[in-house]
Amino acid sequence: MDIVLLGPPGAGKGTQAQRLSAKLGIPQIATGDVLRAAVRDGTPRGLEAKAYMDRGDLVPDEVILAIMKEALASDGARKGSILDGVVRTLPQAEGLARVLKELGRKVDAVLFFNVAEGELVKRLGGRTVCEKCQTPYTGKEAGSVCEKCGGTLVRRKDDEPEAIRNRLAVYGKQTAPVLDWYRKAGVNVRTIDAVGSQDAVTARALEAIGK
Ligand code: ADP
Ligand code: ZN
Repeated sequence: MDIVLLGPPGAGKGTQAQRLSAKLGIPQIATGDVLRAAVRDGTPRGLEAKAYMDRGDLVPDEVILAIMKEALASDGARKGSILDGVVRTLPQAEGLARVLKELGRKVDAVLFFNVAEGELVKRLGGRTVCEKCQTPYTGKEAGSVCEKCGGTLVRRKDDEPEAIRNRLAVYGKQTAPVLDWYRKAGVNVRTIDAVGSQDAVTARALEAIGK
């Protein structure tokens, strides 16, 4: 089963992707995490992506398409994947459809994580993430210790106010239309109320895909 998670930055896609991945036994593919690792490792791809990411802009579609292909064709993803933030433009949605088709698969469902804008700004502004395992936290300061792996929590550059505003604007302009594209393509698109406890949101997501 291949499931696309869509929704604005701060909607909790990453957290829910981890949980759905554990429940369903298929890996989470998160282009944001892949790109941040590339930046850390100083690979050519990372060097290309860094400036876009720091500003909160989208990295070019070709880069994302290459990551998609690699990740979906990997052994671990043979039974499907949770695609977290992987599709943010129409060319990426088309590209994903092509890549999956070559593998004899398709997007089985799109889960749209719905959160009001005021709440998003609040969440992103108060967020830190584990440097090592990428688990996000709200209400824990930079420098605290990750509960999962003991790593150090840091603030992401793109969680600064200016970049947050830009990410939300980019989402509205480039990513929101992808939702309609999927609806028109006849894909099962489900809106998840992404406000409430993490457990409640996970339960809604599982219900939406009939699990
Ligand atoms: P968020 O969705 O909360 O902004 P992510 O960690 O998923 O954060 O992504 C961080 C950044 O990585 C994005 O702002 C963007 O620059 C880049 N990125 C990740 N996925 C994509 C994608 N599919 N297309 C273009 N850029 C992407
Ligand atoms: Zn950690």
